[in-house]
Amino acid sequence: MATLRFFALKELLKREPKYIDNPGKLTSDYFGKNVFDKSKMKKYLSKEAYDHVMSAMIKGARIDRRMADQIALGMKAWAIENGATHYTHWFHPLTDSTAEKHDAFINTDTAGGVVEGFSGKLLIQQEPDASSLPSGGIRNTFEARGYTAWDVSSPAFIVGTTLCLPTIFISYTGEALDYKMPLLKSLNSLDKAAVDVCRYFDRNVSKVSVNLGWEQEYFLVDEALFMARPDLMLTERTLMGHSSSKDQQLDDHYFSAIPERVIAYMEEFEREAYYLGIPVKTRHNEVAPNQFEVAPIFEEANLANDHNQLIMDVMKRIARKHDFRVLFHEKPFKGINGSGKHNNWSLSTDTGVNLFSPGKNPRTNMQFITFLVNVLKAVYKHQDILLASILTAGNCHRLGANEAPPSIISAFLGRELNKVLDELEETVPDKGMTPDEKRSIKLNIGKIPEILLDNTDRNRTSPFAFTGNRFEYRAVGSSANCASAVIVLNTIFAEQLKEFKSEVDLLINGGVKKDEAILQILKQYISETKNIRFDGDGYSSEWVKLAQERGLLNVSSVPKALNAYLTPKAVKTFDKTGVFNSKELEARVEVELEKFTKKIQIESRVLGDIAINHIVPTGVRYMNTLIANVQGLKDIFGDEDVYRNLSSDRLDLIKKTSGYIQNIKNSVHDMIEARKVANKEEDIYLKAELYDSTVRPYLGDIRYFIDKLELIVDNEEWPLPKYRELLFAR
Ligand code: ADP
Ligand code: MG
Repeated sequence: MATLRFFALKELLKREPKYIDNPGKLTSDYFGKNVFDKSKMKKYLSKEAYDHVMSAMIKGARIDRRMADQIALGMKAWAIENGATHYTHWFHPLTDSTAEKHDAFINTDTAGGVVEGFSGKLLIQQEPDASSLPSGGIRNTFEARGYTAWDVSSPAFIVGTTLCLPTIFISYTGEALDYKMPLLKSLNSLDKAAVDVCRYFDRNVSKVSVNLGWEQEYFLVDEALFMARPDLMLTERTLMGHSSSKDQQLDDHYFSAIPERVIAYMEEFEREAYYLGIPVKTRHNEVAPNQFEVAPIFEEANLANDHNQLIMDVMKRIARKHDFRVLFHEKPFKGINGSGKHNNWSLSTDTGVNLFSPGKNPRTNMQFITFLVNVLKAVYKHQDILLASILTAGNCHRLGANEAPPSIISAFLGRELNKVLDELEETVPDKGMTPDEKRSIKLNIGKIPEILLDNTDRNRTSPFAFTGNRFEYRAVGSSANCASAVIVLNTIFAEQLKEFKSEVDLLINGGVKKDEAILQILKQYISETKNIRFDGDGYSSEWVKLAQERGLLNVSSVPKALNAYLTPKAVKTFDKTGVFNSKELEARVEVELEKFTKKIQIESRVLGDIAINHIVPTGVRYMNTLIANVQGLKDIFGDEDVYRNLSSDRLDLIKKTSGYIQNIKNSVHDMIEARKVANKEEDIYLKAELYDSTVRPYLGDIRYFIDKLELIVDNEEWPLPKYRELLFAR
């Protein structure tokens, strides 16, 4: 009988919060203790080696072998002093998590013993036997080897007894096989393009960096219940489960007091994060029961992304200690909120200016408006690849459901900023400005800071919202590697800024004054991008209609969305900015299509198994009880009226139960047939399409009947933890 579920519930009654000991220290005393940061480099490296690392970090200068040996020596000394016995190149392959292969710090010596060793060669490059990691065919075509190479811009860190070196992962022929390499390229490209535009306003700018602040949402489920749900175990989402009578209707979870067991968990993983130099700052309950959020202070994007990947690992590991499982899936539970990962994205200069922050005078405000309007232009032009960068098998359940923006890209600016843009559009003349016009436009632009200070309207329904000093890309999925979205944002913005610069320069070369040239191009952009600006309710059905009238894209099919990477427009954009060549794009799309297909395939198999092995037998057993009951009534009452009265509702139930069982069995059968057809398809795109259009719908159909059955079968017989237990037990 349903033992595992009840065993799990019994386990749950014994749970206590597991608080960690108070370290008796300020966070600042141990923050970054496990990171080989600047202060440790100063201590463990020679001045020459230190200067080399700094210039590699800041200017991208190369580190030669001799220097690398020196750095490796210092790093090893620090790592060993801090308990490390192994080292690994830590990288972001195109899977859902990071990869590592540990090697011990040992070399054999002549006396037959071992000595601790680590060299510049090992620091800089490694050849992991990574032939099983996804490559989209790149490595099969020519050379099976893949290399990892040290990313000097993100510091090494120690986890447990392993020194981890953030690295890029590339093929023998130099193509990116990971998220980090294109992220670095996109940051570089945007840096150059943005510096060029900044110099219209300030000649002193020589570097523009991208900042990223992620907000990570997640669910916690008790480990015992998790183990009793094969669907959670194998797919990270529930493939069935009738909604709980109470879930998030009362809005009583959001920002409410965090449950004790959860607080204890948060404290422990946050402490680990601090040791690793991750500046986590915010924690709170989210909207759905058992849903939470963690957010750090924003950092440079490459570092921030490493930190996001790292903290996801830490959170998974520490959850086990607290008898929890953490779910990063975008939609673990039907009918309640899913999880996202807002990407707060901004640009800042080496002169200390945030380019998305209104300034103190008309000049800096002109710069602000310039960057803002160029973002609109880039986002409008490249809605399709922005969608492609975030749509996955998991995230497509969340987008368009009632708690998340639909798969339509629009930008929220807020009333005041919209007014500023509208005014600019109206007041800037098409050609030649009078001194009066110049003065009044300057005056208007000068007013932005005071306006924005009280501009507190926040729109939570926009997928891409301006929030005062940054853009917040909210459509990103909670399990995603932020790089996927940030690479696209950086790339399209870099391309756009280059285009802007050449358009403005053309006017200037034709004799138009610089300020006027900028204003004229901005005015043109403002008119062209009106359709992407939307401040209303992004979750409403009216918006879906309006967006269609505006000609905005609405794509929720993953395979269709991924096609956007391969259009001539996208290929040109990625090529011009040097972020991806067409071979890399094709490979990436292939990897994503395969990931999508495999995920649906796994979900479909798991659901089929549970339906046939758990649910159908449970339904049949329950039906047998009912039949026995009817038989008993008949034995007692014979054919009397009283028998007919008593048995009629039992007979109804028998018919219903049997109907659901039949429907489940038929649908599972049909789903398997659909899978067989899809599996025969050799074209990877068509196969993904088939999985999307012919297999995926069965997941909903089968679930529908199972959930109906759950409502009538004896609770004692039901084998799987129910939604109320998964969501409220803690
Ligand atoms: P919310 O969006 O939920 O109101 P916060 O205001 O706390 O949350 O900010 C969310 C994230 O945005 C944090 O990670 C924060 O560090 C980050 N953030 C704040 N300012 C910037 C900025 N200028 N650039 C990038 N990220 C930023
Ligand atoms: Mg936010």
